[in-house]
Amino acid sequence: MEDDAAAAYEALVQFLYQAPIGLVQTALDGEIKLINPMSAQLLMPLAPNGDLLNLFDVLAGVAPQLRLLAAAAGEPGSKVCDGLRLQMPSASPHDGVPLTLALSILRLNRHTLMASLSDVSLVVLQEQQRLTSELRDATRTDNLTLMPNRAVVLEHIESALARARNDAESEFAVLFINADRFSLINVTLGQEAGDTLLRLMAARVNGAVRLQDAVGRPQGQTALLGMLPNSLPSKPQQTAARLGGDEFVVVLEGLRAADDVIGVALRLVDSLCKPYNIGDAHVHTTASIGVVTRAHASDTANGVLQDASLAMRVAKRAGGARHCVFQPAMKELACRRGSLEAELHLALEEGQLFVVYQPIVMLAGGAVAGVEALVRWRHPLRGTVPPIEFIEIAEETGLIGPLGEFVLNEACRQFVAWQREFGERAPHILSVNLSRAQLAMSTVVAQVAQALHASGLHASHLQLEVTESMAAQDQHIRARLNELKALGLSVALDDFGTGYSSLASLHQLPIDVVKIDRCFVSQLETSAHHRVLVEATVRVARSLQMGTVAEGIETPGQAALLQTLRCDKGQGYLYAKPLPAEEATRWLAAHGCMVEAATEAGVA
Ligand code: C2E
Ligand code: CA
Ligand code: CA
Repeated sequence: MEDDAAAAYEALVQFLYQAPIGLVQTALDGEIKLINPMSAQLLMPLAPNGDLLNLFDVLAGVAPQLRLLAAAAGEPGSKVCDGLRLQMPSASPHDGVPLTLALSILRLNRHTLMASLSDVSLVVLQEQQRLTSELRDATRTDNLTLMPNRAVVLEHIESALARARNDAESEFAVLFINADRFSLINVTLGQEAGDTLLRLMAARVNGAVRLQDAVGRPQGQTALLGMLPNSLPSKPQQTAARLGGDEFVVVLEGLRAADDVIGVALRLVDSLCKPYNIGDAHVHTTASIGVVTRAHASDTANGVLQDASLAMRVAKRAGGARHCVFQPAMKELACRRGSLEAELHLALEEGQLFVVYQPIVMLAGGAVAGVEALVRWRHPLRGTVPPIEFIEIAEETGLIGPLGEFVLNEACRQFVAWQREFGERAPHILSVNLSRAQLAMSTVVAQVAQALHASGLHASHLQLEVTESMAAQDQHIRARLNELKALGLSVALDDFGTGYSSLASLHQLPIDVVKIDRCFVSQLETSAHHRVLVEATVRVARSLQMGTVAEGIETPGQAALLQTLRCDKGQGYLYAKPLPAEEATRWLAAHGCMVEAATEAGVA
């Protein structure tokens, strides 16, 4: 028996000596009684003169608190310290990793402490890596939607470009998504509703991008959607991310064919345009998407994103709720827009803008009924720039405020001059266009009132033209129109037939006159369908006591047809092109006589 016990004790001692863990037995004051080789190896770099006499002395440089802790330790069995991390000055056996020890000390009995030491350098390293990676994930994630953010998107586009350089078959596409009416929703429903909308949009973006759009994905690999990639992906994959604001990006890799992206774009537009339930409200918004395919991809990730965003803006300008594939020519156009934008500021300051006037006549009798004021830009190098090229820019940059104010003031002033010059024979109505952006400005009512006041024009002679798309849907716009009408002026619905509102909703709009768009007039003689539409429009307008004006009349045939359809007034090249003030004065002088003749003939 005694032999067995001795053998067991010997085995234990052997084990303690060979254990890959450091063990030290000391007195309560730290004096070392027993120490195994592993401890000696771990502690030696700290030992002054190579002496390992007192554990607390040896560790004083890295754990000065040990002596106090030991003195405070209570009953046998209690812990002096447990897993205390010691940052050692020496290198660990693991290449380049600093040595960290974990120290635990147990009070064995009234006289003895037992210390264990282990090398935890690798554990510490792993912990640090995990923390860094968590931190990195946080900087790579969009807080609101938990989607990957811009940094991730740029990396993925970069790697798609790199793969494409090495593999002629590697198709990829980048889709830049933007909500069409987001700022309006943010303003009208509040930021919280805006945030909710963004989260719902994020979910739809994720949902609309499916696995089937990619090939070459190894079995079992799931799409990265909404997850946090820790490292740069080496396999084809899809990423849906939020760039910020209402901008989302989808990167599609491993497409079977370049055209596959169109299916995804259509699906995204379709999904994002469905109404959203936010609280009790049904919120409608649409989305525009710009697409860059491999064929026209620039060679940097930032370049690709910029081009995709450019194509998105083209889609938005075309009315939104659609996608547009980037073409290199768009860059030149954008460039022209860019320089026009800068020059438009100057144009306003330096008086390069002026107003032309297009007469509007009574279809029955040909008397002059009014004029429409249209803005022109006499550019010092480009010649006359048409409004379709710069009104939109002015709207996007906020310049429409001062631009609109200029047109309004100038036109009112000119109109009053004609009233003075022609008296009774002067045209009765001055039409001035108001753009959507102008109507959205709360200052517009004061602006109009001021223009009337400054020129002395009576409000009943002023007509503001708004396009139907804006008047139709928006309560705020309708309220603004009513405020304007309260000044005593009238409102015309411009470009009727091209936008959203239908004949059935005409009665809901606060308007006095419907202007039938040129595209209906131009097909009047050739298309029975268009004739029927014009006839119906005139009938409905009349039944609502609204006047009608046909735009873009170019032939006597069109004029005659419109007259038989009982449209009130007409405007178009048949009568006169838009004329600069002086020419318009001459035209009015000549046609005023015609009016007199017509009136006299009528009286006679
Ligand atoms: P709009 O208000 O529909 O103006 C009528 C446009 O049709 C004018 O183009 C006019 O020159 C053109 N037009 C008139 N008769 C005929 C015709 O018989 N045949 C053809 N082919 N065209 C005809 P313009 O002056 O280039 O203006 C284009 C658009 O720019 C206007 O469309 C209007 O929406 C906008 N715009 C023009 N001036 C202003 C302005 O001062 N403020 C704002 N907000 N928008 C303006
Ligand atoms: Ca107009
Ligand atoms: Ca029009």
